[in-house]
Amino acid sequence: MISDPLVFAATSDIAGKMRGKAFPLSHVEKRSGRGVGWTPTNVQITCFDAIAESPFGALGDLLLVPDADTMATVDFDDAGPVERMAIGDITNLDGAPWACCTRSILKQALARLKRVAGLELIAAFEHEFQFRPTMTAPGQAYTLQGFTRRRAFAEALMAALAQAGLGPDTFMKEYGPDQYEITVTPTRGVTPADQAALLREITRMTAARVGEQATFAPILDPDNVGNGVHIHMSFVDETGAPATYDPDHPAGMSPVTGSFIAGVLKYLDSILALTAPSDVSYLRLTPHRWSAAYNNLGFRDREASLRICPVTATDPESIAKQYNFEFRAGDAAASPHLALAAIVHAGCQGIEDALPIPSVTEEDLSTLPPAELEARGYARLPQTLAEALERFAANATVTGWFPEGFAEVYLAHKKGELAWLRDMDTAARCAAYGTTY
Ligand code: GLU
Ligand code: MG
Repeated sequence: MISDPLVFAATSDIAGKMRGKAFPLSHVEKRSGRGVGWTPTNVQITCFDAIAESPFGALGDLLLVPDADTMATVDFDDAGPVERMAIGDITNLDGAPWACCTRSILKQALARLKRVAGLELIAAFEHEFQFRPTMTAPGQAYTLQGFTRRRAFAEALMAALAQAGLGPDTFMKEYGPDQYEITVTPTRGVTPADQAALLREITRMTAARVGEQATFAPILDPDNVGNGVHIHMSFVDETGAPATYDPDHPAGMSPVTGSFIAGVLKYLDSILALTAPSDVSYLRLTPHRWSAAYNNLGFRDREASLRICPVTATDPESIAKQYNFEFRAGDAAASPHLALAAIVHAGCQGIEDALPIPSVTEEDLSTLPPAELEARGYARLPQTLAEALERFAANATVTGWFPEGFAEVYLAHKKGELAWLRDMDTAARCAAYGTTY
């Protein structure tokens, strides 16, 4: 059949969806400058397609301007078409960033990090996902058997990611039913978030090409583990030298790393609504699921919200290059741009306020009596999306990090999402998110 190749210009929006419109490949140059038309109220389309209350109504016009550097082309070399997509920024007609553009919000957070600390962020998103419907046979966790079952898929996925410009790192059979984990190599600036958005789409596309459904929903079964998104982070200074590690301080944190992490811990309850933004995210964020339940920094502890990760190097220079910490209280219902922006802003606030290096935990906080938890400065994280949204709304410091009007739009969006779920029980909610993500 005849065909004229199309490029999909995409934004990773508040619903954690890639939305946009396509244009002919031959127009890339023109569209990279001028963009494609976009509609403000689209930002209020929830992950279930209901339109939440919108301050924009039927009014207004925006531009979605694809960034040619993000152009990802994947040729699966099967009977299907070549996939082409590029992520962009949403601007007003005068070219100024739109208040609800998640990518512009991340750029603003990264600029703040440069301003307050002279640092550039290096990050990598580690993703877990499941096939749906899940194969229920037990005995597959981390096994060769479980891996082999999906080897053909995994090899196609690795090739697809590499074609799209990502650096595939590892693929493994995770613990949960039909659950797998994929890691990619770290990149700088806004790229890790662009790549996370692409990775989710390319994983779902690859699964679809082999007649399967892959889902990144935060949790499919409340009696089992969830699908986390762990964001690994480190810093380099203006000369490009690693700035995360300092052997003279607790757990090897440089003072600026310590203040950054302290800021994330301090504001975690108020940014959770952005990093774990679905109703079922809170079924995952419970103790003994290796996700995150308290605002603690763990040393190589997989139950902590933030974790200092292990390094394999032994000489100080190589340790400094490998040293990184991960944020574990996130999932793929969140736009990676928005989640990372919230974390970076919280970290910058910690740096600006010169918060001291936090202590690390190496114990199960769920066994401590509430009074001791409180005395040590730890708190159970919000246990529902409604509670997390309240914390976000009530924290003027946090809402103040975002462009004027953003917080109101975000809160209305999530209210619309929760309203749609109103009459559903837990199983139906998990199924709904399993389908949409
Ligand atoms: N599945 C766990 C989560 O929800 C993470 C398990 C691990 O890789 O440590 O975050
Ligand atoms: Mg994992």
